[in-house]
Amino acid sequence: MFLSSILKESLTKIAGENVSDDIADLIAYSTDAVGYLVGKPEFIVWPISNDQVVEIVKLANREKIPIVPRGAGSSLAGGCTPKKGGIVLDFSKMNRILEIDEKNLTVWVEPGVVLAKLNEKLAKYKLFFPPTPASDSIATFGGSINTNAGGLRAVKYGVMRDWVLGMEVILGTGEIINTGRKLRKCVSGYDINSLIVGSEGTLGIVTKALLKVTTLPEFFLSAVAFFSSLKEAGECIYEVIRRGIGPTAGEIIDKISLEAVSRFVGLDYPEECEAMVLFEVDGDKEEVEKKLNAIRSIFEEKNAIEHKVAYTPEENISVWAARKAAYPAYFTIKPGQVTEDITVPLDKFTEMIEKIFEVMKKYDVTIPMLGHCADGGIHPCIVYDPRDKDETERAHKAAHEIMDIALELDGTVTGEHGIGELKRNWLLDEWGPVLVRLLKEIKKIFDPNGILNPGKIFPPEEEEKSSQTDFIIK
Ligand SMILES: Cc1cc2nc3c(=O)[nH]c(=O)nc-3n(C[C@H](O)[C@H](O)[C@H](O)COP(=O)(O)OP(=O)(O)OC[C@H]3O[C@@H](n4cnc5c(N)ncnc54)[C@H](O)[C@@H]3O)c2cc1C
Repeated sequence: MFLSSILKESLTKIAGENVSDDIADLIAYSTDAVGYLVGKPEFIVWPISNDQVVEIVKLANREKIPIVPRGAGSSLAGGCTPKKGGIVLDFSKMNRILEIDEKNLTVWVEPGVVLAKLNEKLAKYKLFFPPTPASDSIATFGGSINTNAGGLRAVKYGVMRDWVLGMEVILGTGEIINTGRKLRKCVSGYDINSLIVGSEGTLGIVTKALLKVTTLPEFFLSAVAFFSSLKEAGECIYEVIRRGIGPTAGEIIDKISLEAVSRFVGLDYPEECEAMVLFEVDGDKEEVEKKLNAIRSIFEEKNAIEHKVAYTPEENISVWAARKAAYPAYFTIKPGQVTEDITVPLDKFTEMIEKIFEVMKKYDVTIPMLGHCADGGIHPCIVYDPRDKDETERAHKAAHEIMDIALELDGTVTGEHGIGELKRNWLLDEWGPVLVRLLKEIKKIFDPNGILNPGKIFPPEEEEKSSQTDFIIK
C-alpha cells in the first residue's frame, strides 16, 4: 500500500501547489450533482498540462490508485463520485480554447472549457457549437464528451459524438493516443473516437478535443404552447417532427415543473394547463417565420389552450432560461431528487408517460417531468425528503420501476446522462451478458489495472453489492 504522505510528495512533485488533501476539498469532491452517492477521495489535483496528467496516470497505474476525472461535476448519474477513493483530477485549470480554424470549421479545446464559453467566443466568428445540454453554462467539454451529452438541440443537431472529430487521450497505462484529425471522412481502422465519447472516464482521460463547428444561424426563435394534458402535448411535438418542420428543440414541461419554475424564477402559464410545449427554430428571417407559422398552425389543430411566440432574441433567451432553471427549481418542492433520463422509441412516448403516472400513484411520490421529448427522451425527477426514510425508499423504488418500464418498452435507462454509479444494476438487463462481457474486455485493454473511474458503468461485484446502500440495490 502506497503511503498517503509519499503519494502527496509524489503528486506535489508533478503538480506543485495544485494538489490538496484539505478536508473541505475532499468533502466538496465527494459527490456530484446526484448528491446522495458519495466516496472519499484521498487527493484532489488540478493539472495544468497533459504532461502532468501523463505523470499522474503513470504513478497511479504503478501503485494501482484510482483516478476520477472530473469537469464541473454536474453529472446526474454519479459519474464522478470517487467511489473507490483515490485521486480526483479536476480539469478546471485546463480551460483554454487552443485554436479556432475558420477554414476547416474546427476548434481545439482543453477539457476544462465550459460549453457556453466556447459559444460566446465563436459568436464573434459567426460560428457555433450546437450540442446544448441544459447545464451548458457550467458543463465542460471533458465531462460532456465523456457522457456523450445531448440536450436541447439534439433533435436537429445530434449529440456530442456527432461533433467530436478527435481527441488526445491518456490511457490507463499513461500512453497517449490521438483519435482523429481535421477530416470529415475517415474509415481507417476501428472507430476508437466514437468509443471514447460516452465512456465516462473509464477508458481514458481526454486532455484535448477537436470539435466540428458550424455557421451561426441568423436567428433562434421559440414558440410556446399550453395543453390540458401531457398526452396532447406529446402528440403536438410528434406532429411537428412528422411534418418535417425541423425545429432545433422540442421540449415538454409538466404542470408540477411549471409550478416549481414559476416559484423559482417566475413564469406565467394558464391555470388550467397540464403541460407546456416549447419549440426553438433557427435560420434566416424568412425561414424562421415559415417554421414558426407551421408550428403555430399545429398548436391550433391540437387545441392548445394558449400559445405565443418569443419574437426577439431577448424573449428567446428568457424562455429557455426558465426551462434550464427546472432542476434547481425542483429543490423548492423537496430537498432530495433522483433524476432519470430514460429514452423510448417515439411511438412509445405517450405510453411511457402514462406508466410514469401509474408509478407516481403506486408509490405515492411526486414526479415532475420534462424532457427533450422530440427525440423520445423524458426526465422524470422523483423528489423526496431524505429525512423521511419511508418516502426516500418509495422514491428510489419508483425510480427503479421507471427504468424497468423503459427497458420493457424497448428503451434505454440512459439517453444522455450515462450509467455512472447510479444505473450500473441495469446494464445487464439492457445489454445481456455477452455484450457486457465484451465491454469489460474492452475496458481491460485500455486500462489493464482498472484505475480509471472504477465502480462506474459495470454492475457491482458480489462483495461490493453487499456494501451498497439500499437506494441503488435492485
Ligand atoms: C441542471 C442540469 C442540467 C443538465 N442538463 C443536461 C442535458 O440537457 N443534457 C445532458 O446530456 N446532460 C445534462 N445534464 C447532465 C450533465 O450536466 C452533463 O452530462 C454534462 O455535460 C457533464 O459535464 P461536466 O463537466 O459537469 O462533467 P462531470 O459531471 O464532471 O463528469 C461527467 C463524466 O465525465 C468524466 N470526465 C470528466 N472530465 C473528463 C476528462 N477530461 N476525461 C475523461 N473523463 C472525464 C467524469 O469522470 C464523469 O464520468 C445536466 C445536469 C444538470 C445538473
